[in-house]
Amino acid sequence: MKIISYGKQSIDSSDIAEVVKVLKTDWITQGPKIDEFENALAKYCGSKYAVCVSSGTAALHLACLAVRLGKGDEAITTPMTFLATPNSILYTGARPVFADINYEIANIDPAEIKKKITSKTKAILPVHFAGFPCDMPEIYKIAKNNGLKIIEDACHALGAEYKHNSKWIKVGSCKHSDMTVFSFHPVKHITTGEGGAVTTNNRKLYEKLCMLRTHGIYKNKKMSKEKGLWYYEMRALGYNYRITDFQCALGLSQLKKLNNCIKRRREIVNMYEKEFKNNKFFDLPVEKRYVRSSWHLYQIKLKYKYINQKKELFKKLHKHGIRAQVHYIPVHTQPYYRERFNTKWGDYPVAEDYYHKCLTIPLFPSLSNANVKKVIREINSYV
Ligand SMILES: *Cc1c(COP(=O)(O)O)cnc(C)c1O
Repeated sequence: MKIISYGKQSIDSSDIAEVVKVLKTDWITQGPKIDEFENALAKYCGSKYAVCVSSGTAALHLACLAVRLGKGDEAITTPMTFLATPNSILYTGARPVFADINYEIANIDPAEIKKKITSKTKAILPVHFAGFPCDMPEIYKIAKNNGLKIIEDACHALGAEYKHNSKWIKVGSCKHSDMTVFSFHPVKHITTGEGGAVTTNNRKLYEKLCMLRTHGIYKNKKMSKEKGLWYYEMRALGYNYRITDFQCALGLSQLKKLNNCIKRRREIVNMYEKEFKNNKFFDLPVEKRYVRSSWHLYQIKLKYKYINQKKELFKKLHKHGIRAQVHYIPVHTQPYYRERFNTKWGDYPVAEDYYHKCLTIPLFPSLSNANVKKVIREINSYV
């Protein structure tokens, strides 16, 4: 039986050819493809700069360091996210503080952010859950009023847009943030195997990110002239978070197909909507007029009466080769967080309610119509 996962990469022969080309050159890491990919990504998002690194988690970590998060600081994020978001705050020594979500779209609720701001708060990390942009103009206003930095976790949202003052704004353009983070893990919109990026419009942040990605090493033309061509300085404690040239060749080739991939995701969403719209057992995601989701995940939400059947439905789909998933177990309920920060079930009721109801079903560009129909059939036969 062929397994249908909830998400999967699409790699074709042109992608492979681009990678092979780089493998035959002298530069398999730190070569020209990195700049090329960064420029293409910045152009796509409408930002001035992009810095590519070894993973989305590394990108989040560096973004947190670039705004000087550290011991004694707090950063506000959502409990409805992948562990990487709050963990990257923890890596810097700062404390992640959770703010509950808005039930309808599962994004962080700006009203809840306001309640969590203290004198120690330094940054907000909103996550564009499932590909639906957060209310960035509102979050931006809150940040400005309180002197906070914003790092968008857009690992689900490459290609997503939202409308503000009757203009469409692309996620990653950093119109309402300091930096935006992407992941190129195989389940995301485009892949480099492992990989990630930060976009920004701020030159200082850009230079800091470049430095931190490679051991905090700084070098410029003036130094080379005065002290010798070999000369460099370590100005901060950085890491080896570099991405390789052949990964960037793959990223570049993938980026060319991004818009078509999102189009195909939409087609599948339309098929799901058509077949599921009259069902009595679960609610469907709703795309408001002022957002264009990148449709990273397709989540159904079981109605309250049926949440006890989620385990059975999950098991049945699994038996038929359909690997549904649950995104996410609220982070504050993880044993590590419970022990370290004394958080518990009940602390974030909206996120917890969402968790009990949600189920992610397959959505990725190479999912065939026949398999979409199979997913629909299996779900409809159960409910
Ligand atoms: C995938 C993901 C990350 C981490 O990305 P990696 O590239 O796997 O390190 C961070 N945040 C969210 C919301 C993600 O989905």
